[in-house]
Amino acid sequence: MNRVLPISDSRVAFVTGSTRGIGLATAKALLREGWTVGINGRDTTTVDAVVASLGEGAVAVAADVTDSSSTLHSVAGFTRDQGRLDAVVHSAGIMKQAPLGMIADLDLIQIMQTNVIAAVSVTQAAIRAMTRFRSGSIVLFGSVAGEDGAAGQVPYAASKAAMVGLVRSAAKEAGPLGIRVNVVIPGVIDTDLNAGLSTDRREEIISQTPLKRLGTPEEVAQAVMFLVSDSAQFVTGASLRVDGGLRLGL
Ligand code: NDP
Repeated sequence: MNRVLPISDSRVAFVTGSTRGIGLATAKALLREGWTVGINGRDTTTVDAVVASLGEGAVAVAADVTDSSSTLHSVAGFTRDQGRLDAVVHSAGIMKQAPLGMIADLDLIQIMQTNVIAAVSVTQAAIRAMTRFRSGSIVLFGSVAGEDGAAGQVPYAASKAAMVGLVRSAAKEAGPLGIRVNVVIPGVIDTDLNAGLSTDRREEIISQTPLKRLGTPEEVAQAVMFLVSDSAQFVTGASLRVDGGLRLGL
């Protein structure tokens, strides 16, 4: 029998890809502000361990976001259990580095499934769950690679460029329902995603960044906190760069 949980008094967010990196930093920032947060990643044991380390307010919702029916089921079940859904932050994403001529079909498909198709189904699941409340905030992640291009990252850059079109279109559809949809565009952030960066490439990126360092997951999380907050109530369809000025170049 399903356990009947009390309807949450606190605000409720579901954060995909929150076992590590930007998603985890976002989950921590939300928990500090008193939110209840659904913690997501592919592996149940990992998700349970993260939830245990985060403590009160963290709820395990393990699911592979590339499985759209599992995504719909997870978001709907989490919303039902908590009695509300104020924000969905879609941080799950993957990156693979290869020159254009060396891209394997399987890698291309996996990147598109995780970064594009899952972003559509997470947005769809979020809007379905939020519609009855006639409010809610959805945040997706693009990348400077998607806006400016990045050698060796053609599929990743294409997948992240797609987020801007997705967000602007979803914002138009969901606005009349009281639901806001925005995209954060991080620069190069110190997470596992960039573990493969060579020291030389790292130094090169830092030298091209006016703030002369990589970003931290916590700094990106603060941009998300703004977008899900009441301070952003009239902000939708927006792209917010958090990149230390990387676009500005030299
Ligand atoms: P990390 O590699 O640090 O973390 C990725 C997260 O996504 C993990 O929690 C992982 O969980 C989860 N994940 C991956 N695939 C799936 C899946 N199929 N289903 C569910 N969860 C999944 O990445 P970052 O935190 O660095 O990146 C977060 C987002 O920000 C991504 O969309 C990325 O493209 C974007 N971004 C990051 C930048 C950076 O410099 N770091 C720059 C620009 C954009 P697990 O492995 O436990 O399943």
